[in-house]
Amino acid sequence: MDNRSGMPRRKPVPQPQQQLSENWAQDLTAQFRRTLSTKRMNDLSRRPASQRRAPSSLATEFFVDRSASAQTPPAPSRQAPPVPGVPHLEAQTPMTPPPSYNASLKNIPIVPTAPTDSRSLRFRSMLMSLSNTPCKWENPGLLDEALGVIPLERIYNAAQEESDLFEAEAASLGKKPAWGYQDCVIRALMKWFRREFFEWVNNPKCTACHAPTVAKGMAAPLSDESARGASRVELYQCSNQYCQSYERFPRYNDAFVLLQTRRGRVGEWANCFTMLCRAIGSRVRWVWNAEDHVWTEVYSVHRKRWVHVDCCEEAWDAPLLYTQGWRKKLSYCIAFSADGCADVTRRYVRDSNCAVRRNKCSEGDLIHILREIKAMRRKDMDKKEKFRLMSEDTREDEEFRRNVIESLALTISRILPGGDAATKGSQRSDPDAQKAAEARQEAELLRARGVRGAPNQRQQ
Ligand SMILES: [Zn+2]
Repeated sequence: MDNRSGMPRRKPVPQPQQQLSENWAQDLTAQFRRTLSTKRMNDLSRRPASQRRAPSSLATEFFVDRSASAQTPPAPSRQAPPVPGVPHLEAQTPMTPPPSYNASLKNIPIVPTAPTDSRSLRFRSMLMSLSNTPCKWENPGLLDEALGVIPLERIYNAAQEESDLFEAEAASLGKKPAWGYQDCVIRALMKWFRREFFEWVNNPKCTACHAPTVAKGMAAPLSDESARGASRVELYQCSNQYCQSYERFPRYNDAFVLLQTRRGRVGEWANCFTMLCRAIGSRVRWVWNAEDHVWTEVYSVHRKRWVHVDCCEEAWDAPLLYTQGWRKKLSYCIAFSADGCADVTRRYVRDSNCAVRRNKCSEGDLIHILREIKAMRRKDMDKKEKFRLMSEDTREDEEFRRNVIESLALTISRILPGGDAATKGSQRSDPDAQKAAEARQEAELLRARGVRGAPNQRQQ
């Protein structure tokens, strides 16, 4: 609430973290109880006796979207295991049945379990392998080299200018600036990267005559392509009948090779950009999404939290871009960094209707796998550093719980008499939806301006 009025009206507007007061929670509980009781009575009186269930199961059922079919996919892991010493938000209302976000997730803490079946083990080895991506960037020599391609002076000047603006705006309102200088550096870097540095490629143009090309399948990598780490090469043929040259498009996944090729699709974009954020001194995460997308998270020291960054879309702190902007349904969003990993799905999926069923392994298995990776990354750290990272993990988990509560509150406010569901004004009162809409508008605006290299198709 604090940040709302102090937020400069520009770019994808950052989402203020709502502080939930105790009264608010109590009011909500009371409202929830009343509605639940009425609803339960209505349901019971409508049903034939043979179908009546025990009241305890109805409490959970209340939160299931009735418009959806019986196969409604369960929400992603909404339930984090209780962290000792951390105030449990749901615990504020012990008398109420804690509202389950989805029927599939009862209020039972998930216990980490070692994966044993082949499907879970396959997922484990895939996550293990993905988790190496950010480690490949931890090479000081290469990072220095990467710094060499960035027009540092321009980026720093632009960042200073924007940071001054944030400060002036904040000072006039007596608030903390929305973003710090280092955040502005990343924002400036992203603009340069997308508008000038990297090129989006669907079908590469013919290098001989610049005519469009037609896909001809895959080709075996040549020795120099293999040497630079391309395991896949796409083959294209020029559509000009007098030329018909072949064009190769090796898919490199070495960020340092990408500094030279400077082209690709989502994978190449996120890989190279995230490495450059690292080179410029930020802590970074590379976020893998099971629905064929990848993006970046940068740690904002100013905000003390991880911030979503999608360089393909020039989106900053717009985590609902995918579910609300693109209307995409997501299952897993896993963030990998050089010092850990996290299931960050709850940052990107706030509505169970936008969740795809997570069936690559059990939730307990996933927790176990992520803990394994985290332990591996932190095994050589000193105790102090480990403790600092653990507190950071805990803070992030609280952020995710807040997301779930806010999302529940919104659902309830829609169901309640006079709520948005009745007035059809749900979009107006949903700040997340508003933010996604703004991000969408901005992306359309940039595209309309014909920004160079604007990705227009989401190809992996
Ligand atoms: Zn040609």
